[in-house]
Amino acid sequence: MEEEKLFQELLDKISVATRFDYASSLLDWDQQTQMPQGGAEGRALIFAAVKTQGFRLFTSDAIGDILRKLNKVEGSSLSPEKLLIVQRMSVIYERAKAIPPDLFEAFNVAKSKAFTIWAQAKKRSDFGLFAPTLEEIVELTRKIAECYGYESHPYDALLPDFEPGLTTDELKKIIEPLRAQLVPFVRALTEQSDKPDESLLQGHFPQDLQMKLSQEALNLLNYDFNRGRLDLTVHPFTTSVGPDDIRVTTRVSPWKIAHCLFPTMHEAGHALYEQGKDPLLKWLYLDKGISMGIHESQSRMWENMVGRSRAFWQFFYLKLMDIFPYYKNILFEDFYRAINVVKPSLIRVNADEVTYNLHIMLRAELEADLIAGDKILVKELPQIWNAKMEKYLGVSPKNDAEGVLQDVHWSSGYFGYFPSYMLGNLYAAQLFATAKKEISNLEEEIAKGNLKILLEWLRPKVHRFGLIYEAPQLLREVTGEGPNPKYWLEYIKEKFSPIYGLK
Ligand code: ZN
Repeated sequence: MEEEKLFQELLDKISVATRFDYASSLLDWDQQTQMPQGGAEGRALIFAAVKTQGFRLFTSDAIGDILRKLNKVEGSSLSPEKLLIVQRMSVIYERAKAIPPDLFEAFNVAKSKAFTIWAQAKKRSDFGLFAPTLEEIVELTRKIAECYGYESHPYDALLPDFEPGLTTDELKKIIEPLRAQLVPFVRALTEQSDKPDESLLQGHFPQDLQMKLSQEALNLLNYDFNRGRLDLTVHPFTTSVGPDDIRVTTRVSPWKIAHCLFPTMHEAGHALYEQGKDPLLKWLYLDKGISMGIHESQSRMWENMVGRSRAFWQFFYLKLMDIFPYYKNILFEDFYRAINVVKPSLIRVNADEVTYNLHIMLRAELEADLIAGDKILVKELPQIWNAKMEKYLGVSPKNDAEGVLQDVHWSSGYFGYFPSYMLGNLYAAQLFATAKKEISNLEEEIAKGNLKILLEWLRPKVHRFGLIYEAPQLLREVTGEGPNPKYWLEYIKEKFSPIYGLK
């Protein structure tokens, strides 16, 4: 019983730190949806103060003591799930403590400077402007990797913040065979002469009606509006501002219908995951150290495997025609093909379902080599970037803004984050293949508008305790094997070959 009492004490202490983390999320949500521009400077100070206080409380010696005691117990009386929480919290705690305060501060100062310089460099499309700052960030990140420690590759030390349980070598073993099949498949699709007509997705779509369509989609996905809300922003995101307050945001372009609906469904996938979390996890300090790949698998599953599927639109097309009568004159089949167009392009965030992973492979390879220190230099980045774009996607950036400067991640010190996007696609396909096996009428039900059947399958298997597992372990338990990219390859070949009339 001693352990039970200690465990409760641990939860109580962590929950106090978590309150500050939720408060910082609310400040951030407000900044991105409501705050007047003039508030930015003051907000940065308030945000930093609240965030730092949460971090301080979480890294207190008292929490460290309890974690050490609970982690030491042999033949513990705690349930396996509680023990798992202790182990995961210990890892997050030790990593948070591994960075000396002066290095932590130097890194934060460098990052806040870097964001502004990156934004300017991107605007002027001049990598040279950003290079010295990026060199500094890479240098500091390498120092942080040394503090965390690693066996064979410094990049291994950074991955656990986003994808615990994955190493650089394992990542390479996923990427290389996948790319070998993906590049020729994309080429085969794009060489087909009968291409979907994307212009069907353009027109005049007023903001209020697009938001109405997004609301309808969220209702259909069983997003709980009693514990969430939908708002407008520039870059869509999902955030938890409390244990039962999981908010999604979306964007609107008045002339492009897909630019609002699919990001909404993507964010809804993240939110459904958070809304399905076990109450035991709701007050844990989990801002890092969980599988972002599994998180992303949920957004990609609802956005792509459901949201861009024929079955989903067999039901939802009626709603679309209701809100936008323009689609009464468009053939269902043409619309379905239009939302599934495959076109190699320069910008990652606009990439389609098939080519997206190639954008990620390029970034994962570059950042692992940058962190290695002796493989590539920062100043060589634009040239290597462009060469890889040509090789993987067959397109070449004309300038740095549409090339190496397009993403914010490196200026924010996020090295190791990019692979999560690709892994999310792979995990989603693997989980979805199992769901289809276990729910034999899944597609028929989706076509009837019954999406609850999938959510109820995901809840106990993935959502409830998923956050606490490393991805390979969770996948083994749910699908019977560790990460296997073959499911995603099968999924895209099966889906896109007929769309493009490929035999
Ligand atoms: Zn996402």
